[in-house]
Amino acid sequence: MSIATNIESLQVDLKPIGVTLIAVSKTKSNEEIMEAYTAGQRIFGENMVQEMVEKYEALPKDIAWHLIGHLQTNKVKYIAPFVSMIQSVDSLKVLKEIDKHAGRHHRVIDCLLQVYIADEATKFGFDHAELIEMLRSHDFQDLQHVRIRGLMGIATNTENEKVIKEEFYELKMLFDGIKTSFFRKEDTFDTLSMGMSSDYNLAIEKGANMVRLGSTIFGKRIIKHYKNND
Ligand SMILES: *Cc1c(COP(=O)(O)O)cnc(C)c1O
Repeated sequence: MSIATNIESLQVDLKPIGVTLIAVSKTKSNEEIMEAYTAGQRIFGENMVQEMVEKYEALPKDIAWHLIGHLQTNKVKYIAPFVSMIQSVDSLKVLKEIDKHAGRHHRVIDCLLQVYIADEATKFGFDHAELIEMLRSHDFQDLQHVRIRGLMGIATNTENEKVIKEEFYELKMLFDGIKTSFFRKEDTFDTLSMGMSSDYNLAIEKGANMVRLGSTIFGKRIIKHYKNND
């Protein structure tokens, strides 16, 4: 299967059920990305700031770039001019920094709050209590240049489907609760990003409306060890 046919068949499955496909292009070449682009894909996910900036500069400007990896505060300035969504907001500190740089560019940047759902100590994200505490804080309520669109989560890397389903279910319940408690009047709090190549069908079954697929589209990545991700 080619990249183009993978995109086309995924979109045939996902579009009618209202699930947005993020093509995760980390480590992939501009040529590979262009093959997906030519097949109609416009939203791409990257987890490293520098790699995203280089690809943004080289590739068509109607691509929407989503950051899906941990973001250090000192790197926000590089993506603030163009990033379409930051899915990996994992602290108030980084959110305030995004707000500051978005303001300088007269933008409002869409963000997802990353929630820690996996049974793995290495993953980033808020736990439930931290998330609620932040949403209640004045510091959070004062932000003007970020728009919280929903939640993102990464399930445990396991073959055990029951564990994965429980984690996705938990995140969906949290999403519904937070929407009711904090974003009742905001129609734009509408995005639940969960599911990667190995588990996206389970994620959709549990209520995801955005999935982030890399290897399903582009084939396996050459193993690369990042400092902050993976
Ligand atoms: C790499 C990555 C993905 C895609 O992983 P695949 O298994 O290749 O689909 C999705 N989400 C995040 C946060 C990632 O870092």
